[in-house]
Amino acid sequence: LVEAVGVRKSFGHTEVLKGIDMEVERGEVVCLLGPSGAGKSTFLRCVNHLETIDAGRIWVDGVPVGFRAAGGKLYELKERDVARQRRDVGMVFQRFNLFPHRTALENVFEGPVQVLGVNRATAVKEARDLLERVGLADKAGAYPAQLSGGQQQRVAIARALAMKPKLMLFDEPTSALDPELVGEVLDVMTGLARDGMTMIVVTHEIGFARSVADRVVFLVDGAVVETGTPADVFNNPQQPRTQQFLAKVL
Ligand code: ATP
Ligand code: MG
Repeated sequence: LVEAVGVRKSFGHTEVLKGIDMEVERGEVVCLLGPSGAGKSTFLRCVNHLETIDAGRIWVDGVPVGFRAAGGKLYELKERDVARQRRDVGMVFQRFNLFPHRTALENVFEGPVQVLGVNRATAVKEARDLLERVGLADKAGAYPAQLSGGQQQRVAIARALAMKPKLMLFDEPTSALDPELVGEVLDVMTGLARDGMTMIVVTHEIGFARSVADRVVFLVDGAVVETGTPADVFNNPQQPRTQQFLAKVL
């Protein structure tokens, strides 16, 4: 579903992604691990075209991100078409950024109504189903400020799902949460993975990566240093950089 080839990205004179190759099959869960500053967030942002890449190419479901293919050529997309392309990809960040003046339910159904043109009654019904799926059926009328961090993050996941994405990107979705709230969010993500959602997850939750990831990718200094099944990578890391990193987090 996702294919990245030779992805490079610099900020000023600093090359943050130094030729990333990555493939994610449909229904696969890939956990992206690595030290701070490795370029994990930047890579996710490139997949979603929140950053423009300097070289290489990323395809999502056969479509080159940021481009339109016609007559064997690629044409750069205009801003409006970028927004359309981005709808296929749901993203959940470390901070929940829900709309503060909208209830949980409104946060979930507003996108489908405003952006996809879904009729309101249908969108509201789907939003209720999604809130139920993330265990928040009883919080539909609550405002973000009335919800815990874990609940807010689950609303954020429901909101992303409401757009019916082909792919979900998670950037450290639990690292801003109090420890006792981490589990409820990881449980929702685990359910999503079981239901066959394709996911790329940046996380420091090794337990989650171990039990849910089909594949783990280690990124260090803008390059993939090691990739494999969680069992391979966690139990038997081959690269010194991976061994050092795991020695700190395991
Ligand atoms: P962390 O685990 O701390 O979130 P990360 O692996 O997500 O780290 P990135 O946020 O992708 O790392 O950042 C990689 C490098 O790119 C860092 O050195 C960062 O300072 C730099 N960087 C990221 N975004 C920008 C930007 N918009 N402008 C300039 N430099 C940036
Ligand atoms: Mg990051």
